[in-house]
This record gives sequence, structure tokens and C-alpha cells, in this order.
Amino acid sequence: MNAEFIFVGTEILLGNILNTNAQFLSEQCAALGISCYYQTVVGDNKDRITKTFLQAWDRSDIVIFSGGLGPTEDDLTKETVAEALDLPMVMDKKAMDSIREFFARRGLEMPPINEKQAYVPQGSKVLYNANGTAPGIICEKDGKMAILLPGPGNELMPMFENDVRPYLSSKSDTVIVSKMVKMCGIGESAVDARIRDLTEESSNPTVAPYAKTGEVHVRVTAKAPTEKEASKLIKPVVRELKNRFGPYIYTTEEDVTLEKACVDLLISNHLTVSTVESCTGGLVAGRLINVPGVSEVLKLCYVTYSNKAKRKMLGIKKAILEKHTAVSRQVCEDMLKGAAFINKADVVLAVTGLAGPDGGTEEIPVGTVFIGCSVKGKITVEKYNFSGNRSKIRENAVAYSLVLLRRCVLEYFSEVTFGSEGQ
Ligand code: ATP
Ligand code: MG
Repeated sequence: MNAEFIFVGTEILLGNILNTNAQFLSEQCAALGISCYYQTVVGDNKDRITKTFLQAWDRSDIVIFSGGLGPTEDDLTKETVAEALDLPMVMDKKAMDSIREFFARRGLEMPPINEKQAYVPQGSKVLYNANGTAPGIICEKDGKMAILLPGPGNELMPMFENDVRPYLSSKSDTVIVSKMVKMCGIGESAVDARIRDLTEESSNPTVAPYAKTGEVHVRVTAKAPTEKEASKLIKPVVRELKNRFGPYIYTTEEDVTLEKACVDLLISNHLTVSTVESCTGGLVAGRLINVPGVSEVLKLCYVTYSNKAKRKMLGIKKAILEKHTAVSRQVCEDMLKGAAFINKADVVLAVTGLAGPDGGTEEIPVGTVFIGCSVKGKITVEKYNFSGNRSKIRENAVAYSLVLLRRCVLEYFSEVTFGSEGQ
């Protein structure tokens, strides 16, 4: 089966909003094994929506629309598709009730304008919207499908997950199952070189690496008639990846992030943590605090941006700052020691660097970042040279801080040692 997408909305054409639904739907269809050859953005204009739809209907098995299902005059998707497919619009009582209920929950009467949202092309399957007023719609005709989804992501995404995905899977005789093996502390090319046999030789399951900031993810995807069979194909490959990459793998769970893995590691080792940040300005703390339950281990987080703050808050000597400058191994080490002393945290993470764009010298070019981690007094400081603009350098510094935290805790508490595998 192949699908194509039509995103309706003049605001997308004007660049007022980013087409995040495109990424979501593309990923979802790829995961379902549905090929996708075209995507179009079209404004809120009936003629152009009709032309775009007819072209898509002609060349694709499934046409998925996003947007234009609202109650206003410029919401045209449903009426346009119904007309193009020659289907009359009929009132769906359940949709009407669900829209009325949506307003009632907010203590409001349904405005008459919203009645239009309860009309659907005859014979279509209606997807009731728990997060908004517009119902989604699936129309089948001549062996093809038109799927109409509301534009707002918080409506489209759950509707896809709860209704559309099961519907599409039921139409297909193959199931796609995939597993993400997430690694950190190892560079993309090192991963690539070590799995080339798997990426090149196997077609079911397929093995594909994706580089993320500070991380490499490897997705293993299998197709089979049943979920059980697909999972069986995946298992030995994931096991092989575990053999090859061992401690670099921090999870094989889709929803576990690097910060979650770090926090879990701290919790399981009963370690408290503090952060001391300069150039990252609290972003490391922010990522740790993304994780629910971090309060169990997180103590104080410092943002000591100025030299004065480094002196006053952490007790770093003026002479040290003058001699070595703030972006130095020595100061990074003293940031760790200062915070560990004041806070009595088991683990301290410190970052000091030059994010630019100005201020670089030959000795300390823009992108130089020292990241340090102390675990129960055992100090590690690494020097990095990140490239990119200010925000990219800071993003890298944050990611590599988490990578270093994980590495240092694992090295302290287990026999594990990490080689230098490129970053
Ligand atoms: P509504 O009932 O809110 O009018 P709708 O289904 O008619 O929903 P649109 O009017 O096209 O959808 O868009 C409503 C809002 O949904 C947009 O302002 C935007 O915030 C979001 N949205 C629409 N399309 C997209 C898209 N492709 N990607 C991300 N967000 C989108
Ligand atoms: Mg709208």
C-alpha cells in the first residue's frame, strides 16, 4: 500500500506554522510499512484542494489529509472531498452529541456554527475526537481510502494512534515491528563501521542507524504476517547489537531518553546529583528535570555564568580564574569540587565553555567546552571541541554532559570501561 499526504492551510504556505504533522505522519506510515511518495501543502481554497485531491486519489491508495476540518468558512476539506467523491453529506448523530458534549464539559452551549462539523460524507467511518470538536473521517471508495484528520497536533496525533493506525494495520497482511537500540558515548561512524554487515546484508529485519546529538540510535525493523513472528525476527539482531556495543547501549525502550537513563542510574545507585553550569545556562539541569521522579536524587543546580558567581557561589579562587580563564580544565575541576563541598552531592556535573560567536582565541577557540563529572570525589574532566553556532554548541555540551555522567557512574560502580570510540 502507498499513501500520500495533503496538508491544508494557508498558514503553512505562509510559513506561519511549521508543518510538524508532516513529520509525524511520515514517521507513522514508515513504521507501518506504508510507502509514501508525495506530500502536498495547499491553501484553504476549494478549487486547489479539489485539484490536489483528485491528483492524489488517482495515483495513491491512501490519501491522508491534515487540517481544514474546523467549523469556519475556510475549513473546506470535508466538503471538498465529499463533492469530489460524489458522496452526499449526512448528519452523524454521535458526532453531534460528542461535539455538544465537548462544549458542555466546558460549561458552554454548542455554537450553531459547530453543527457543520457533525456532517460527514455518507458511508464514511467517523473518528470521534476526544481532544477537540472536529471528528476525523475515513472514506473508502473504489478500493481506495481518504483519511481526513484535524490540523491541531494534539488532536491529530492521538486520533492517528488510537483509530487510524489500527485501521491501517487491519487492512494490511503484514505487521511491522521495530525496536530502537539507543547508544551514547560512541560516534556515528564507529557504529556504522561495526554494523555494516547488518545494514548491508539484511533486508528483514532491516538495520538502520540514526545520529542524534551525542547519541546514535539503531532501528531494527521486521515485517511478518504476525507481530509474534516479526518480534522473533528482531530478537537475535538486537541481541547481536547488545553483544557488539555492550555498555554503550543505554536502552532498547522507545520512550526512554538519555536523561531518563541517567536519572534511573542515579536512583538505582542511590546517588544524589548537583549540576554547575556556565555556558549551558541551566540546560543540563533542565534535561535532568525533564524526568519525572528526579526529585529523589537532584539537589541544587547552579548557573554560575560570571566569574564573580563562580567565586561567590563555588569558592573558586580569583587567581585561578585569572591564570587559567573560566574555560579551562582547572576551573571545571574547581567547579566540581566547590559544588561537591557545599552540597555534599555524590555526583556533580560541571560545564564551562565558549559558545561564541565572539571571544574565541587561538588557544581557546569558539566551541571549546570542558565537561567534568565527579563521582564520590573521583574526578573526570574532558575537553571537547564542538562545531556549529552558539545553540548547536550548547546543545552538544548538554548532551555530552549526560553522556559523561552515565559513563563516570558506570565506571565507578562496575567493571565497565569505555574506550575512545570517537564522538
Ligand atoms: P480547527 O478546528 O482548529 O480549525 P482544523 O482541522 O480546521 O482545526 P486548521 O484550521 O487547518 O485545522 O488548523 C488549525 C491549527 O492546527 C493551526 O492553527 C495549527 O496550529 C495546527 N495545524 C494545522 N495544520 C498543521 C500542520 N500541518 N502541522 C502542524 N500544525 C498544524
Ligand atoms: Mg480550521
